[in-house]
This record gives sequence, C-alpha cells and structure tokens, in this order.
Amino acid sequence: MNSKTVLITGASRGIGKATAELFAREGYGLILNYNNSKEKALKLSERLTKTGSKVLVYQADVSKQQQVENMVSAGESFFGGIDILICNAGISQQQLFTEITPDEWRKMMSVTVDAAFYCCRAVLPGMIRRKKGKIVLISSIWGIVGASCEVHYSTAKAALIGMTKALAKELGPSNIQVNCVAPGIIDTDMNSTLDIKTRRELISETPMGRMGSPYEVAESIVFLSSDKADFITGQVLSPNGGFVI
Ligand code: NAP
Repeated sequence: MNSKTVLITGASRGIGKATAELFAREGYGLILNYNNSKEKALKLSERLTKTGSKVLVYQADVSKQQQVENMVSAGESFFGGIDILICNAGISQQQLFTEITPDEWRKMMSVTVDAAFYCCRAVLPGMIRRKKGKIVLISSIWGIVGASCEVHYSTAKAALIGMTKALAKELGPSNIQVNCVAPGIIDTDMNSTLDIKTRRELISETPMGRMGSPYEVAESIVFLSSDKADFITGQVLSPNGGFVI
C-alpha cells in the first residue's frame, strides 16, 4: 500500500478519472474532486474503495478560492497531508475570438488559471513544511502551439506552462517538483461535441493516426508524480501521438 495521498481536480470523468484509477492501482490515497458530476464521482469512489483504496470524494468548484481551501483542509484532515496535486479540471469552448464574451473569457481563466493558483496556494504550506511534494498541471498542445477558435483556451493553457516553469524554480529548494502534462487529442467528453469532419481532420494530423486514450495521459501524470521523477522539474511532457514535435 502506497502511503502517499493525491488530490485530483476534475476526477469525475475523462483524464481525471483515468488518473484516479491508475493512482488507485499503485495504492495511493485519493481525494477525488468533482463539480457537477456527483453520480459519476460517487460511482468511481465506490468502485475504488471496493478494490481497497482509501478515498475522499469532494465537491468543489475549483474556480472558487473558498471552496478549494475547504477541500484541501478536508483532505488534509482525512489523510494527514496531501503529497501530490494534479490540477486537471478544465473546460473547453470553440468560438471565434471576436465572439468570445468577457464572461466566457473570465470563466476560462478562472477554471484554468485561477483554479491552479488556488489549488497550489492551498496545498503548498503542507508540502513546504514536509520539504516534499509533487505538482502536475494539465495544459494542452494548444497552450504550446495555439488553436484557432480557442484563443481563450490556448491563452489559459499557455499560462499554466509559464506557471509550471516559474513555480518549479521557486519550489526546487523545498524539494517540490512542478511539471506540466500537455496532451494532444484525447478521446473524452471534451471532444465528443466535435463534428465528424473535425474529428477526422485532427486524427489525420496526428502521426499515430488516432486519438489518445485518457489512460495514456494518466500514465504520464502518474510517472511525473512518482519518486522516479524526483530530478524532473519545470518540464512539459506532451503525450500527443506526434501532433506537436
Ligand atoms: P472532460 O472529460 O470534459 O472532464 C472535465 C473534468 O473537469 C470533469 O471531471 C469536470 O467535473 C471537471 N471540471 C470542470 N470544471 C470544473 C470546476 N469548475 N471545478 C471542478 N471540476 C471541474 O475533460 P478531459 O478531456 O478529461 O480534460 C481534462 C483536462 O485535460 C482538462 O484540463 C483539459 O483541458 C485537458 N486536456 C484535454 C484534452 C482532450 O483532448 N480531451 C487535450 C488536452 C488537454 P464535473 O463533470 O464534475 O463538473
């Protein structure tokens, strides 16, 4: 049984859920955050508990500072500390730049960038005290190369890459590694609204000729969270099937 505890935001579906399953397999204690998908989160928690995992499932909108702080306090009380933070919760929207409203822009920034700030800020005092910790921020290839009709998403995901690099430098002396995973096109609900033509185009632009599975992204996240990655910090690992090289 692994004695470490991981907090995964947006663990109810997609990449977050796959990541929770892989961490559970490795024996980590799990704090599974969800926002709207209560039933899915509870079902996942129930399944992982049955197979021997210790799980705290917690509803919080990660764009709200107080909710994040409450969640982290609850997690620390339940497990005695949080060793690993995975900032995975995210939203997407396809929209021409000139049609993005200020509210839509703000929402993208708050769910992506503010949330990472609130989550890191909440878990860091404990990690710094213990002089040990791992943070993985989930960006996207679009944060590296930019996506047409997703300027707010690309901007927010690029911000996470900047945050990863700066935080890694600041936290290195505290033995805390901060890395980023920037997935390519992954088969989750996030891409389920794409029309068939766009799906085909994205697949044909991917040298591996297919979408990635959420488990393929989860493997990178679990690796960067493990002791095997103790000398890796400030890096962007991009499981993308060759889409961005
Ligand atoms: P998904 O299937 O749409 O799942 C999104 C998750 O984020 C859900 O668990 C959702 O929880 C949670 N979430 C959204 N807003 C939240 C909030 N305000 N507070 C707490 N949780 C919130 O997406 P995914 O494909 O797994 O994406 C996961 C991450 O990978 C995202 O950051 C995404 O940008 C990134 N990514 C995805 C792809 C891709 O192709 N799929 C590619 C690159 C990067 P509820 O349902 O409970 O509300």
